Amino acid sequence: MDRKKTVQIGIIILAVAGAAAFFVFGRGDSEAAKYQYFYDLSEKRLYRAPRAGFAPEAGVGGAPGDGVEAVVVGCPDCGTKSLRIAYLKTHTPEYKQKHDAAVRTGVPIEGLTRPWIADHTLVRLVDGDKWYPASSEGGTHIVSEWRRRCPTHGTTEKPVQP
Ligand SMILES: [Zn+2]
Repeated sequence: MDRKKTVQIGIIILAVAGAAAFFVFGRGDSEAAKYQYFYDLSEKRLYRAPRAGFAPEAGVGGAPGDGVEAVVVGCPDCGTKSLRIAYLKTHTPEYKQKHDAAVRTGVPIEGLTRPWIADHTLVRLVDGDKWYPASSEGGTHIVSEWRRRCPTHGTTEKPVQP
């Protein structure tokens, strides 16, 4: 194999690896991903569940009904060893009830607005003890201020799907 061909193949392999990395570190709301991360509060354990899951859900042990959604992030250049939980997400009992009824009946939730969703979506740091509505100052801070730079690569962390 001549040198030119070797270089070409090398470029193709890099391109494929790049595409794979993009897929794994795609945006959190990517439709392609079938699963999302959840976190069992009593077990303090991360697990994966179908994306259709809507927190709070059953969980995987300990107290029932304490499985919440986890936003997991990492440095794309470090791969899986850099992963950490940026924050946790769940919903008010009112929102959960409306959501489950909508799934059961096939009738969409009436009058759902972005402000209402933000008021009824709750976020918390994994070692925090207080849930904040996503619409509040504390909630906005948690959702928008989690990005760190990897000390090794200088790359900004991105959300990861399981
Ligand atoms: Zn890194």
